[in-house]
Amino acid sequence: MSTAIVSKRHAVCVFWLALASCVSPAGAQSVETARERITRADLETEVRFLASDELRGRRTGAPEAVLAARWLAAELEKCGVQPAGDAGTYLQRVPMNLVARDAPPRVTATTRTGETLELVYGVDFDQSDILTDLRIEHVIVVTRKEDFPPHAATTVALVLPESREERGALLTAAGTPSGAGWGLLLTLGPDTAGKPREFSPSTSGPAVDDGVQRLRLRGDWKKRALAGELTKLSVVANATLTPVEAFNVVGVLAGRGPKAEQAVVVSAHYDHLGVASKPPKEPPKEPPKEPPNAPTGGAAPDVIFNGADDDASGCAVVLELADALAHAPPPDRTTIFFFATGEELGLLGTNWYVDHPFVPLAKTVLNLNFEMLGRPDALAGGPGKLWLTGDERSNLGETFRARGVPVVADPRPEQNFFMRSDNMAFVRRGIVGQSLSTYDLHQDYHHVTDEADTLDYPHLETCARIAFDALSIVVDDAFDPEWSPGQKFER
Ligand SMILES: [Zn+2]
Repeated sequence: MSTAIVSKRHAVCVFWLALASCVSPAGAQSVETARERITRADLETEVRFLASDELRGRRTGAPEAVLAARWLAAELEKCGVQPAGDAGTYLQRVPMNLVARDAPPRVTATTRTGETLELVYGVDFDQSDILTDLRIEHVIVVTRKEDFPPHAATTVALVLPESREERGALLTAAGTPSGAGWGLLLTLGPDTAGKPREFSPSTSGPAVDDGVQRLRLRGDWKKRALAGELTKLSVVANATLTPVEAFNVVGVLAGRGPKAEQAVVVSAHYDHLGVASKPPKEPPKEPPKEPPNAPTGGAAPDVIFNGADDDASGCAVVLELADALAHAPPPDRTTIFFFATGEELGLLGTNWYVDHPFVPLAKTVLNLNFEMLGRPDALAGGPGKLWLTGDERSNLGETFRARGVPVVADPRPEQNFFMRSDNMAFVRRGIVGQSLSTYDLHQDYHHVTDEADTLDYPHLETCARIAFDALSIVVDDAFDPEWSPGQKFER
């Protein structure tokens, strides 16, 4: 079977080892005493470290982001949470490269009549993420599950349906949901060739190397591929790869109830935007009432995106939840504490996790994600009031309220926050996934002015304690997370 299946089995073994060996070093306290461990001082210390200038904005792939990951791992260990990353550590490597291209891939196709032709970039194909040279011996048109060969092979290319949903369903049915294991996935672009696309040399930001390579055919070659005319392909990637280090940070507290095999993933992303290459514009501010003082001169402009609210605040909350739960009576459900890399680049770290989960996704019942809780939101009721993204989509929000946990529905549904964070990687796999936040659309969002000094720490403490009440409900056997009717996301 595919490597994805092998690594899942491995993850299951590690999980049961962790279950067998998990002992809370500090010993269980009462729930109330454990909750008191969540303090303003700890939250502030954690935010101030992650959002410090020394961590230079925690850009995915930068050494400072690795430093943040190692620090989070050490903090989880101090809490008494067990490692749930690679090989008994808290770190889960997410393989990423910077990809430089001076030229498009060179694609040579052999047809059923024995012709050998070179495909033209921008006319015959227009998108690719090919990282290595390829020699494809068989091209197979796949429209039904039965069309797949019995085993995935790197010498086989698949011509897949144009619709993303159909592609996903077919690959899942073949036991290779991500497409890993096949040599090349041929996807299909517009019917007409249209205006040729120009190639421009580029270096991409860190891109995940998931072992899946794709080429999007268009125009005449799309039709020829669908008609089964393609028999062989050879591809020269024309890409220079520079590996970068990137890690998710993962810890686990084993469940002790009858549903201990089920997992709840508690998450926040620790990556942010790094450092601007030139002084960025400050966000618009109220004009000063007094004329500004003469320029002081000499002070270097701020170029560091500290990301104190986004999402050092969420990371601090998750750390405090880990510490509190590790000192409370053991949860019924297994609880995973997950700090994601690559969120700002498109949920890269969490997408990797859902393909390589510590507890199989079939047993993962909920992702409770934390995003931007450092400042009160007047629309949610002000200090100490949280809102939940996609409130109406599941039984989560109504359960919190029924149990006296003050969580309101996201007051700005038009911003579509439900779709804008790591919970979506779980949602796309059918798992209930929602974010708690207090983001009030403040002007420092994604600016260098998102600094630790701007956060309201008493508010953050109240939010973290409420988050602990919310977490206590979802790790308890008595509650089962469920989508509202018709809300389960189909990939
Ligand atoms: Zn964020």
